[in-house]
Formats: sequence, C-alpha cells, structure tokens
Amino acid sequence: MSSDDATDVGDLMQHWSMTADRFLTHAARWHGRRDVVTREVDGSISRSNFAAIERRARLLSAALLAHGVRRGDRVATLAMNTARHVEAWFGIIGIGAVCHTLNPRLFEEQLAYIANHARDRWLLADPQFAPLVAKLRAQVPSLERVVYLCGPEARPSGDPDYETLIAGHGTEVRWGDFDEHLPAALCYTSGTTGHPKGVLYSHRSQVLHTLMGLSAEVFALTAADTALLAVPMFHANAWGLPFAVAAAGARTVLPGPKLDPASLYELLESERVTFSGAVPTVWQLMIEYLRANRLRLTTLKRVLIGGSACPEALMRALADEQGVEVVHAWGMTELSPIGTISWRPTPEVAAQGPEVRLAYNLKQGRVPFGVDMKITDDEGRRLAEDGVRSGHLKVAGPAVLRRYFGESADALDAEGYFDTGDIGTIDAEGYLQITDRAKDVIKSGGEWISSVEIENLAAGHPKALMAAVIAVPHPKWRERPLLVVKLKPGVEATAEEFLGFLEGKIAGWWMPDAVVFVAEMPLGATGKLDKKRLRVQFPAFPGA
Ligand code: ADP
Repeated sequence: MSSDDATDVGDLMQHWSMTADRFLTHAARWHGRRDVVTREVDGSISRSNFAAIERRARLLSAALLAHGVRRGDRVATLAMNTARHVEAWFGIIGIGAVCHTLNPRLFEEQLAYIANHARDRWLLADPQFAPLVAKLRAQVPSLERVVYLCGPEARPSGDPDYETLIAGHGTEVRWGDFDEHLPAALCYTSGTTGHPKGVLYSHRSQVLHTLMGLSAEVFALTAADTALLAVPMFHANAWGLPFAVAAAGARTVLPGPKLDPASLYELLESERVTFSGAVPTVWQLMIEYLRANRLRLTTLKRVLIGGSACPEALMRALADEQGVEVVHAWGMTELSPIGTISWRPTPEVAAQGPEVRLAYNLKQGRVPFGVDMKITDDEGRRLAEDGVRSGHLKVAGPAVLRRYFGESADALDAEGYFDTGDIGTIDAEGYLQITDRAKDVIKSGGEWISSVEIENLAAGHPKALMAAVIAVPHPKWRERPLLVVKLKPGVEATAEEFLGFLEGKIAGWWMPDAVVFVAEMPLGATGKLDKKRLRVQFPAFPGA
C-alpha cells in the first residue's frame, strides 16, 4: 500500500464521543460495589455505591426528559457535596443538559444575577437552602421548577422532592451519543472584580481535564484510594474530582454541609480516607484542631491544596506532625481548574535534598500535559523564564476557557493564550511561582512588591492565624504595603514583633509600613481571603 492510500482512508480508530457521562457508566460497570459515603444534611451517614448512583442518575435523567428538559437547557444546583448532588451532575449532563452549580455562600443579589444570566430553567436545591430559594425564585423569571434534594419527609415547601421526582420514569435513557463539543457544565467565577462571569465547560474539556487529573503527577487516584471531597461541588468544577473518583473507581466520601475540622476529622478517620482536597484555610483550621486535641491523622496520605497559596508553616505542619504530603496546585475556574502542580519533584530538584524540594513544592508548580503557560510584560512580549522576572501569566490548553458565557469576543491574545490575571515567575526548572494577582499587586515607586510573599512569611509567625498584605495609597511611593493579621485565639502581639520577624527575610523596601490586628478576616464565597473588603476597611494607614 502506498502512503497515499494510507492517508486516503482517514481516521480508522473508533469515533468514541468523549462525553463526561462515560465516567459514571465506567464506574458502575467496573467499580460498582465501591462505596460512596455521604454525611447527610441532618448529620446522619448514608452509604451508596457507584452502581446505585448510576442507576439513580438515570432515573433523574428520565424524569428530566419526561418534564421537557432538553439539550442545552440549564439545570442549576444549589447544594453541598452529597451522593444526590453527584447523581444530579450525571443525570443532567448525561442527556446533554447543562449542570449549573450555584454557590450558596454568595450574596442573594449575586446569585440572582448569575441565575438570570444563565437563564436557569430548573433548580435542584438542598432543603436547608429553602429560604434562599424562596428569595431567588421571585427574582429569576426563567426558573420553572424547584426540586429539593431529599425525600418527601424532609420537603421544606410544596415543591417536589427528588425521591418522588425520580421514582416514576424508569432508567431506559440513552446517555451521551452526542457531539463531545456540547456544553456539560456552567460555573461562574466569584467575581472579586466586576460581575461574575460564566465558564461553560464542554464534555470534551471535562473528559480531557479528568484524564489530566488522573495522572501520577496530579491526583494519582486509584481504586485503592478513599477520597474525601472537601472542595465544594459549586467551587471551580470541584477541581474535577467528582469525575476523577468515578474514572479511577476510588471510594468516595462526601461531607455534606459539615466542613468544620471536627466533622471532617471524624470522617477522615472513620472512613479511613487516604486522599483529600480543599483550600488552605480548611487545612489550617484542621491543624489547629488536631494540635488542640492532640489528635493524629492515621490514614490520610496526601492532600490537594489549591485555590490560594499553601503557606510554608501549613505544609511543614502537615508533613512533620501528621505525615501527610501536600499536593500543591494552582488553578482557576477558567482552567477547569487544573493549571500547575508541584508535588512530585523533577529528578533535578529531588537531587538537591529535602529543603530544596520543599522550596519547590511551595511554588505553584509545573504544567501537566494539556496545559501550556507563558509570562509576558505589559505589552504582551514573552519574558525570560529565569525565576526572577515576573509578568502576566497566560495559559492555553483544551480545558482552558476561550470565551466567557454570553460574551461576543474571545478572551485570548494573538497566540491564543488566556490571561489569568495572575502575576508570576517561571524558573529554569519550569516551576511557576505566583507572586500576586494583577489586582492585588502593590506598586511602590514603580516596582512590584509581592503581597503574597509577605503574607506567607507573616502567616508563619507562631502567633498568627492568618495574614494579608494590601496596597494602601502613599503620597511619595504611590502605594505601600499594609500587613493585616488575625492572631491565634487568646494571644497578643505588637507590630514590632511582626516587623522584626520579617526582617532579613524580605528586601528592606518591601517591609510593611504598618501592621494592624483584626478580630476577623473577611472571607469570600469560596473561603478565600477577600482583599477587596480589606481595602475598603483600610483605605489609609492607621493614624494617617
Ligand atoms: P475566584 O477568582 O473566584 O477566587 P478561582 O477559585 O477560580 O476563582 O480562583 C483562581 C485564582 O486563585 C487564581 O487566579 C489565583 O490567583 C488563585 N490561586 C489558586 N490556586 C493558587 C495557588 N496554589 N497559589 C496561589 N494562588 C492560587
């Protein structure tokens, strides 16, 4: 056969449309007995498995179809991590409808804006959110039906309950069988600037992102793992974990509404969890709780930490006191969300010993296959990747956003890269380090000061629970850093103690001009520090 013949016949491999429902079909068939454990809204523990979850997700699909839900329709959820919420994800996307995860921690006006923008037709909500749902309903005309994720006994209003809804329509529905480019899920960024923006994930992007996440350098999940999903399913696509656990057939533990350290600890131990993931604040509170109660994590091997930088003190505490490895990851909603990961060192880094290894693990990490990144100056020119020059971080890949939902132009530069709004360096080993968010950066005398670096160091002070550094206007330098500290309960400290602690660790001109102590740090809807509110609280230096 000539080479011409070989090219003429085209693609001889199967056209297996990459739709995300396949993860659950796979889990049901090959890992059907594997437990899915839920802490229900009332605190009780219930047990299901992948086979049952798939069957019930199909019941939901049949019910949605029977009630006229069609491909592309938005079905919203307002729910914590439970088995029913997982069923909802798959039941919705399996028939080509779009699962829109709403974040119950957002303000009512923001939620109404988002639900209207998305034109949500249905809403599946946990019963405890009934008061919020009642207010939303009045403001969202597109909303035709509300269903509560519970049985008839727990129904908070006259609206139907999930168990009754799914009971009547059988499981004979066809999943997938459509173009992999169709949308599967919609997630809005929490909008620390301007209105929230929608990121519409396609089936194809979800599948490719999940395969990326399964690699040994990322989640490294297997059927021998038990994974506790502490990152809410409404936050940044739950980091892709609900798909990853199904694909890997990992035992799955869903903590429901209880994300406090005592409740999480109880589940981690009783279910012998090996893997978990959450933002740093969750682990920070966990470490405090473990210390105060002299407790040990006896089965947990690694935790995925992302959403904001993992402080050094936290990484060391988890490793040294609890023997837990930190998989430090950087990502964002627009990336589905995996961007970089700094867990497994390259051989060149590993050869330099444990302290250097830790220093690299504290960086945001290297890209897995499926993500490319670059840093540029203000004019979009690529900068040297020397670990020193910092610039605008831009990314590309099949699970990276091209255009926000409802907008008319692509959000990409001339080379097809998306500007993350983060500022960082890339070093000779290929590790990204985030030094700031473009909107949080402190520009003193024309030079950038990394708020992130100072706050990470300050958070390592033995008396500190949390630290934040914000820019405050300054007559001479335009902006100067202010350090805001929340102390551990019952301790007192002075500004001098903190400034002395920073001395020698940062350049003299990075030294904060003042330190203030606060009783509470403002947290955003995903548990991250809300610097916008801090800037409102401290528009000037104290006493100025
Ligand atoms: P939001 O903007 O609503 O917080 P995301 O949850 O998508 O939305 O947050 C993405 C942002 O979080 C990133 O752009 C980055 O600034 C920050 N971030 C995420 N992971 C890390 C990390 N490991 N280190 C530092 N910053 C991080």
